Amino acid sequence: MQSFSFKRAVLKVGSALISPDGQGCSGEYVLPIAKFISDSRKQGKEIILVSSGSVAAGRSQVKSRQRPTVAEKQAMASIGQTQMMANWARFFDFSCAQMLITIDDLNDRRRYINFKNTLNALLSNQALPIINENDTIAVDEIKVGDNDNLAAHVALATQADTLIICSDVDGLFTANPRIDSSAKLISYVENIDEHTLSLAGDAGSSLGTGGMVTKLQAAQKCTKSGVQTMIVSGLKASAFTHLANEQCPGTLFAATSKASSARRHWLTHTIKVKGQIIIDEGAYNALLNKGASLLAVGITQVCGQFTNNDAVEICFEGKAIAKGISAYSAQELGQILGLGSKEIESTLGFHYGEEVVHRDNLVSM
Ligand code: GLU
Repeated sequence: MQSFSFKRAVLKVGSALISPDGQGCSGEYVLPIAKFISDSRKQGKEIILVSSGSVAAGRSQVKSRQRPTVAEKQAMASIGQTQMMANWARFFDFSCAQMLITIDDLNDRRRYINFKNTLNALLSNQALPIINENDTIAVDEIKVGDNDNLAAHVALATQADTLIICSDVDGLFTANPRIDSSAKLISYVENIDEHTLSLAGDAGSSLGTGGMVTKLQAAQKCTKSGVQTMIVSGLKASAFTHLANEQCPGTLFAATSKASSARRHWLTHTIKVKGQIIIDEGAYNALLNKGASLLAVGITQVCGQFTNNDAVEICFEGKAIAKGISAYSAQELGQILGLGSKEIESTLGFHYGEEVVHRDNLVSM
């Protein structure tokens, strides 16, 4: 078994574990997973759960033909989602927090940042975020479609270091273990190449290998952005004992780049600058030499029209020295520049936190 370590993991739990017989929710497989989550949190690790199962849990409560219509499936999801949440909640003595998202929410910068901010607020309040696709309103065009890829998006957006996909298969095999008895579990994949992808079979045969195609897509997205990914069997309680001991009982896909480079890339290349914030020497030193966030007190001038969560250049002595996302609009900064953090609320009547540009949302240039 491969050893690993993690600080923040996204744990994806598939429908087969939540609703094994497609008749409502079951605690059978959820219990050992819940114990792993609780134990990890006690060790100071962070877990973000991506849980499937809403459609499966609600299926028996909506009358439909063998192939339900879109509306019927959405009704199943709507009924099943609350049951799935309740099924998790009964195992924890901390709050479970539901977040329903679509791919649109992550593509839109403002919603993406709001999603991250909410998630961080949940984590710092010891709540367990439980994320699913917003199946009740999402139609195919705005859907990720499968929770393996959704979990990968969540892992990247939340800067997790690890994605653990809990499935009904042990991991990636050299052949389809359901039809080939000589198939061997691959415990470590250093680099996902054409050969690795060919092991999943094509989309048509993906069911036979437990939906391996979407799992490999998720692993590919994550590993190339610095997030190690695992596929493990959620059917076996022992898998979670191993994971708790930082041993991967299934397949571990190594991260192939550093996490910071993906984030840097997004901040440096993806977002467009809408304005400039001019800072004083104290802020310049704090930003460049101490890795600090930018506070209102160090701002001397604001240029351009931007709203909160827009990207801005941070300039000192006529030169752009950093780029980041401003928590405040240009107009709001006009009122609070030079002020101490405690004066923000009394001046604006509200506040978005003391950091104007949080250091997590900042790259130097
Ligand atoms: N969002 C779907 C559900 O909760 C599951 C999609 C998937 O498992 O890939 O039923």
